[in-house]
Amino acid sequence: MKTAERELRTRVQELCAGWDYTPACDSWMSGYDPAFSKELSRRGLLAVTWPEELGGHGGTNLDRLAVTEELLRAGAPVAAHWIGERQIGPSLIRHGGPELQREFCPSLARAECSFALGMSEPESGSDLASVRTTARRDSSGWRLNGRKVWTSGAHVATHLYVLARSSKEDDKHDGLTEFIVDLSSPGVTVTPIVGMDGEHHFNEVLLDDVAVPERWVIGTVGDGWRQIVNQLSFERGGPERFLSMYPLLAAISESGVLDEHGRIALAALAARLAVLRRWARDTARAMDAGDSPVVAAASSKYAGHRFERDVVAFARPWVPHCDENVRALYRQAVFAAPKSGIRGGAAPVMLSIIAKGSR
Ligand SMILES: Cc1cc2nc3c(=O)[nH]c(=O)nc-3n(C[C@H](O)[C@H](O)[C@H](O)COP(=O)(O)OP(=O)(O)OC[C@H]3O[C@@H](n4cnc5c(N)ncnc54)[C@H](O)[C@@H]3O)c2cc1C
Repeated sequence: MKTAERELRTRVQELCAGWDYTPACDSWMSGYDPAFSKELSRRGLLAVTWPEELGGHGGTNLDRLAVTEELLRAGAPVAAHWIGERQIGPSLIRHGGPELQREFCPSLARAECSFALGMSEPESGSDLASVRTTARRDSSGWRLNGRKVWTSGAHVATHLYVLARSSKEDDKHDGLTEFIVDLSSPGVTVTPIVGMDGEHHFNEVLLDDVAVPERWVIGTVGDGWRQIVNQLSFERGGPERFLSMYPLLAAISESGVLDEHGRIALAALAARLAVLRRWARDTARAMDAGDSPVVAAASSKYAGHRFERDVVAFARPWVPHCDENVRALYRQAVFAAPKSGIRGGAAPVMLSIIAKGSR
């Protein structure tokens, strides 16, 4: 490990060690603490890869991986900035014009604004190109109409990324456009969908003739599908796809309850984790080279979801012998495990991408 990477990891560890929070599984979705995100930014640990003139630090995706791995290992409350920093900022940097970048990137890098993802709809999840939300031009920009579902964190975010159909074409992958919507705009209704764990995390977002200014189109009108393919690599290829359960794994391994069989099972999981981390490094390097490693990201996401499920199965027999802290992590992991094979693209769809070698 290079010195710069080790130094980044130490800085994250120091921040987490001094912050008042309870480590949690799946904290990148459920651990919402805007003050923590702002402190991360203040310490130069957010938007690590972005250009300095847009509020970033001009680092590499390998640098960012060092930061995100440490945050996830610590089960830190990172949900407030995760989506905006992971994929909206990078999308704007890759596809957005200078005006749009200047409007959003610096405030995203300071964790002053936050994004939710408006991709899925009632009839469009795996088949994302079939979205029915429409975008039509009017004299001042665009009008959006449609219904998004499973929109994580839309009740706390300031803005929504929206994939919408801007024209009808023979090929459904054509005629899609990416937009930014202010969630406080007239015509936006955010309705909670409470999960089986009793938590309010998901939402339905109704867009009823919502006005969007022309400058809030991301990239090229009608080219949304090509652009989104890049974004999905950022969404799927990161360590959150295999480190969401790490706080549980670490707590069990340190609990002293494992017998010899337990230690052998733990060693097998540790070996798989080493491979997953290696893949994440390869994906980060490919992104640094300007590639969109769609297949590698799908492979990592698929194997990561299997790993996370197996961490929960491994923990199950030992949890009754552990203290309440471990039991609380286990409860979080049990509720989170089914999500990992669906969010960001269902597991069979990842297999299909891997088999075809493209999206
Ligand atoms: C925790 C969580 C958070 C989420 N957050 C967001 C969010 O913030 N924003 C957002 O837009 N969406 C979000 N989603 C939605 C998620 O992206 C979709 O649920 C996912 O893409 C699957 O779509 P669907 O639910 O419509 O299932 P469907 O597309 O109806 O698929 C149902 C099942 O059919 C099978 N299947 C479907 N198509 C194929 C195929 N081509 N090949 C093989 N099998 C197939 C799969 O087994 C799949 O699980 C979230 C989901 C979860 C679980």
